[in-house]
Amino acid sequence: MAHQQTSPRSDELEFGGPLGTAAMLLLLPVVLFHLLLTCHSGPCSLLSLPSELPPASAFWSPWALLLLLLWLGLQATLYLLPMGKVSEGRMLRDKSHLRYPINGFRCLGLTALLVGLGLAGGLPLGSLPELLLPLASAAAAIAFILSLLLYLKSFTVPPSALAPGGNSGNIVYDFFLGRELNPRFGSFDLKYFCELRPGMIGWALINLAVLLREAERHGGRPSLAMGLVNAFQLVYVVDALWNEEAILTTMDIIHDGFGFMLAFGDLAWVPFTYSLQAQFLLNHPQSLELPVAGAICLLFAIGYFIFRGANTQKNTFRRNPSDPSVAGLETIPTATGRRLLVSGWWGMVRHPNYLGDLIMALAWSLPCGVTHLLPYFYVVYFTILLVHREDRDERQCLQKYGLAWREYCTRVPYRIVPYIY
Ligand code: NDP
Repeated sequence: MAHQQTSPRSDELEFGGPLGTAAMLLLLPVVLFHLLLTCHSGPCSLLSLPSELPPASAFWSPWALLLLLLWLGLQATLYLLPMGKVSEGRMLRDKSHLRYPINGFRCLGLTALLVGLGLAGGLPLGSLPELLLPLASAAAAIAFILSLLLYLKSFTVPPSALAPGGNSGNIVYDFFLGRELNPRFGSFDLKYFCELRPGMIGWALINLAVLLREAERHGGRPSLAMGLVNAFQLVYVVDALWNEEAILTTMDIIHDGFGFMLAFGDLAWVPFTYSLQAQFLLNHPQSLELPVAGAICLLFAIGYFIFRGANTQKNTFRRNPSDPSVAGLETIPTATGRRLLVSGWWGMVRHPNYLGDLIMALAWSLPCGVTHLLPYFYVVYFTILLVHREDRDERQCLQKYGLAWREYCTRVPYRIVPYIY
């Protein structure tokens, strides 16, 4: 047990082990570029290969790389500004706690201010969509280099700093999952920084740029569909940063190491594939009747209500179980001293936050109409991701809580969707 506490060895491999992770190392970038190329092609058919590939030069631009480096530099500078409170993370294996600046929302506000000033001064943000392909290449390359450096850095830290899941001894597997749990330079936490800032704020910025481009093309006004996609996804980004402290109790922070999976996901996958609906609408305009738009807004509001309610409830409970908003909820004691919620949102299904997230995903795809599959890629991918993630979390919770987790599963039999799954 003492050995396990200081030097966790990942015995149970996930994502198909070394072979599965090797395949994902190749597949994730291929899928990213396939989606971008398909989205900007006329037929926009997700299931067929593009008739001809653009020249290699279309994937590379020194300006795109410079722009991306400036963006990362700006977000890193804002991260370091001493504003907002500082929160403690979950206790680590060596019994210490890391401290995290909770200033993401302020950074978003400052970024919005700078972009607003830039636009007033003539910043041609509407031209950004032309650079998406080289920007995505630069982001993928940076994610790859960062993962390599993170992998090498992980050999300089004590065993207690390694992630329980990314320390198998297999190079490919550990490179993909991430060996070190919380890589830091001084107080700069690389994983925490990448989780919500450059990629998530970048996603909102790409959406805005695409909306401006659409407005330029159509007499100065964006379409209703584009407005809805932008508004819904902006709510999601703003919400994530407003509730930044809540990520300190999520799997990414408390369990997963920082490797290619999160670096590529945060820096390349999120901004360029999550903005596909807006990109799709730019090339394939859709008209939307007001009553339909109203129904979609209602669906989004329901999803958001569930998502936010569940995440806030669990985060509040984990941070302060005697908080009046959660003190009255029924719980199951566990041998670790932590309790499991068995009423409220977490008594409905075992991952109510995933249910809300999926409903929102559907709501922001629907404004794209039903003529193409591509805008629904996110819903399909996200369902697979969350079903797999739920399964991973269940196994981790079974390990952590044993019989108490089994009792929770008996009392709350459905995983994500009540009476269905
Ligand atoms: P969760 O926030 O769902 O955290 C899971 C942890 O919560 C468990 O390991 C356990 O940890 C604790 N927990 C589980 N059940 C209970 C219970 N009944 N009572 C108290 N605590 C419980 O995990 P994620 O990190 O996967 O998700 C966070 C949010 O991020 C979700 O809303 C998800 O949808 C979203 N997300 C979005 C993504 C995107 O790309 N848009 C990608 C991934 C996630 P412990 O007991 O140790 O506290």
